[in-house]
Amino acid sequence: VGDALLRAAASYGDDIALSDRQPTDVSRRTWTFHELATDAHHSARALLAHFQPGDHVAIWASNCPEWILVELGAALAGLVLVTVNPAYLEHELAHVMKQSRARGIIIQDEYRGRKLVDVLDRVRNQLPECRTVVRLSSWTDFLGNGLDRPLPHVSPDDVAQIQYTSGTTGFPKGACLTHRGLSNNGRLFAEALGAGRGDIWINPMPLFHTAGCGLATLGALQTGGTQVLPPEYHPAHMLDLFERERGSIMLCVPTMLIRMLEEQERQPRDLSSWRLVALGGAPVPTELVRRAENLAGVDVTIGYGQTEASPYLTHTLPQDRHPGWENSVGKPLPHTEVKIVDPSTGAIMPVGESGEICGRGYGIMTGYFDAPDATNATIDAEGWLHTGDIGSMDTRGYCRVLGRLKDMIIRGGENIYPREIEDVLITHPDIADVAVVGLPDDDWGETVAACVRLSGPQVPRSTDLEAFCRRHLASYKVPRRWHFLESFPQTASGKIQKFALRDLLLHDVTAD
Ligand code: ATP
Repeated sequence: VGDALLRAAASYGDDIALSDRQPTDVSRRTWTFHELATDAHHSARALLAHFQPGDHVAIWASNCPEWILVELGAALAGLVLVTVNPAYLEHELAHVMKQSRARGIIIQDEYRGRKLVDVLDRVRNQLPECRTVVRLSSWTDFLGNGLDRPLPHVSPDDVAQIQYTSGTTGFPKGACLTHRGLSNNGRLFAEALGAGRGDIWINPMPLFHTAGCGLATLGALQTGGTQVLPPEYHPAHMLDLFERERGSIMLCVPTMLIRMLEEQERQPRDLSSWRLVALGGAPVPTELVRRAENLAGVDVTIGYGQTEASPYLTHTLPQDRHPGWENSVGKPLPHTEVKIVDPSTGAIMPVGESGEICGRGYGIMTGYFDAPDATNATIDAEGWLHTGDIGSMDTRGYCRVLGRLKDMIIRGGENIYPREIEDVLITHPDIADVAVVGLPDDDWGETVAACVRLSGPQVPRSTDLEAFCRRHLASYKVPRRWHFLESFPQTASGKIQKFALRDLLLHDVTAD
């Protein structure tokens, strides 16, 4: 990661690498590639005044340029950065700090009105190994600390970060990601998009996630793009930024784009500079691809992966426009292998048939930190990562994701993939967003439940929605329970937490 920064500084020197323009404010700070490299070196040396190479150091902050200076500084200093979600509650913070054996923490004073420093104080007595606390509010003083420290040798195979998976299925586990994995995944992703010098990336993805600090940050960095980093995602502010900064690329999860397109319909902005949106991280409704092309005039690409793979395994290319491309997640990225196997026997499935998606290559984590059983259950002896996702591959190597093994609904012995039903329902004019889950059922084992966010005040009758589904789906796949929600439980990266949704429904007596 450090080498990637130095190469970028040598190639793109005085171009703008990073800017933190606030959406509601005209002031901003910028860093050229040279300045970014210089400040990252100051950051590395200051960190080495407190920590030894190899130490685990946590960062608990929302998106800001200092986050990136800590990331790059830690990489140059050979530290392992533990990236912590700023939305974590006390017990979650304590869990990741203890589990990762972090020696210190770099912390933002406040996040969304909550004093993070006070939260840390309350759990501090449970963290004897955490000896150093650096507040980002005193970052400039901190930098004065270690000006003459030499930087260590860092190997591509060293672990650069421990990222706790964002938790759409349960308690977070710490994936150990290497310099080789993160830097190459960012570069190969950006190259797949055809990104280059002059591109303006507007980055709404949280930096504690591989999508934010890996794909977007290291992708823009290595292809000479400018990263514009708003402090947090807000649909209207994002569109304002695109207009004002002449943004050209954005990586985001589908829910973020859905909200931005709704806002664009309400109040159109000049989005003529926006050429590409790279969707991924969650199922992409085909309808969304068409809406984005029509409403914002942008090309869409789709990527698939998971934190454990640094994160992307596959990606479509902007030139992929064969019929049905938008139902796929593209082909494996260079230097990555993907296979589809029978989850119980491990045998490779015939072309077109569904099974568990497995991936192998430079990006796969070295393991979950201090969790050998979980690691062995996920990475096999031949180095294949078992993703827990169901998918298929066509004769050309294009992959489809059908859902998660854990989310698959088994109704009366029939396998049902929520994704297929969601794709149908999202095309209904009264529906803005939808998530389908399985609920326990005495007769069938599981029944199909659809959770719907409506696009307007009109509440459709569930019998009409069922009739709509029946026109497109086999009868056993048609949802039998309907829930109208104003919002879905989401992770900080904007993904729907199906396990939380299922819990909500199990305790909900207001179902239609
Ligand atoms: P965990 O349950 O491990 O905590 P998470 O959702 O919190 O998972 P991520 O690593 O961010 O953690 O998410 C990866 C998962 O997101 C994949 O395993 C897959 O199920 C889903 N996913 C990612 N990209 C796509 C895509 N393009 N289409 C469908 N699903 C996707």
